[in-house]
Amino acid sequence: MANPPLQPVRGTRDLIGEDFRAHHHVISAARRVTALYGYEEWATPIFEATGVFARSLGETSDVVSKEMYSFEDRGGDSITLRPENTAGICRALVSNGLTQSNLPRKVFYAGPMFRYERPQKGRYRQFHQIGAEVLGAAEPLADAEVIAAGWHILVDLGISEGVVLEINTLGDAESRDAYRAALVAHFTAHQDGLSADSQVRLAKNPMRILDSKDEGDRRIVATAPTIEPFLTEKASAFFESVLRHLDTLGVPTRKNPRIVRGLDYYSHTAFEFVTDRLGAQGTVMAGGRYDGLVEEMGGPATPCVGWAAGVERLSMLLDDIPRGPTPVAIIAAEGGSSLAIEIMQALRRGGIACDMAYKGSVKRQFDRANKKKMRFAIVLGGDEIATSTVTMRDLQTGVQERVPAALYPIAEWLVARGGADQQLNP
Ligand code: ATP
Ligand code: MG
Repeated sequence: MANPPLQPVRGTRDLIGEDFRAHHHVISAARRVTALYGYEEWATPIFEATGVFARSLGETSDVVSKEMYSFEDRGGDSITLRPENTAGICRALVSNGLTQSNLPRKVFYAGPMFRYERPQKGRYRQFHQIGAEVLGAAEPLADAEVIAAGWHILVDLGISEGVVLEINTLGDAESRDAYRAALVAHFTAHQDGLSADSQVRLAKNPMRILDSKDEGDRRIVATAPTIEPFLTEKASAFFESVLRHLDTLGVPTRKNPRIVRGLDYYSHTAFEFVTDRLGAQGTVMAGGRYDGLVEEMGGPATPCVGWAAGVERLSMLLDDIPRGPTPVAIIAAEGGSSLAIEIMQALRRGGIACDMAYKGSVKRQFDRANKKKMRFAIVLGGDEIATSTVTMRDLQTGVQERVPAALYPIAEWLVARGGADQQLNP
């Protein structure tokens, strides 16, 4: 008896057909838009020394305390599959000695991330993020512009409707110290009602309780003080300036004092692009300013700001996913396959996609081309072979025409009907 079919690991998925096309479409849009804003793309390893994340994300963050895929490798080192890419990018900035020159650097990335979470719609154990980071810029325009690039991507993908930027400030260290004290007082007064997790957060990092998803915690959070009255004049002015630039850049924003980031390294601006179209998984893009992270990696003080977005969540919002052109079908009768292969290869070298079945009668080859929804066919039947011609056929309309069996007449026919680009590659 055959073995039962193997399944992908829980929380992972195969990207095939439309799923892959959506995925690719999101990443290419992000790559194109960030290039317009002056970003260069980096790729860092998908695993790092565990310390890269444990130190920077904060020991008490959900990600570090429960979600990391960490293991000891055969050499006895503790390795972690990256749960996010900001720590890796900052580590790379420091490792490659890039902290002193050419700042600010604007970095775009895209790739898989790994978190041990309960899988559900829009939440996976291997998922993908695109992200943008401005490294080495302390100015509020950097915050506003990186956000504007994110918004531009959403607009380009046609999914900005119903999405709003929720924004908050976490202030500077002085503001946060004062605010933390007020939060501790509030949560201590309601300590009995807090979840076990939040009791721990209260001792270690009370601000994180604001981000809790527990129902009971949320009720207590609802009456907690906001940071606004605790902001220093400088922190306030910074936030106002970010908001003003966002207005100029045309990004619709809504202040939300409950936005805090789940990771420890943030200060000043914190934001999320939120939609009401994805239920509980409504955050599609999230980020903020992290002025202390590069130092954490052993580099000099380097102010940074950036965001990350879930490719799966963005994909779910897409209405229509563009299909690339299908290859031109080469259809050959017995005896014509050599010439057909030559023509096919010449076309491919010229930049025209084409494909040919490995076997089957002319009729079977036509069936295959139709099934694959190929638009154009180049047919080499007995007649064509005898006269050194091919029949060019539009499979949608049935229109066909004989042309000489040579690259240029074939290409010309295809170009005239949109079956190939205007310009043949040299
Ligand atoms: P959430 O509150 O939904 O758990 P998060 O605060 O953990 O999100 P971030 O670490 O800010 O998320 O990651 C940025 C984005 O990455 C999220 O807004 C979301 O779109 C996406 N994302 C995060 N975790 C997952 C996951 N497990 N599966 C799919 N996408 C995810
Ligand atoms: Mg999470």
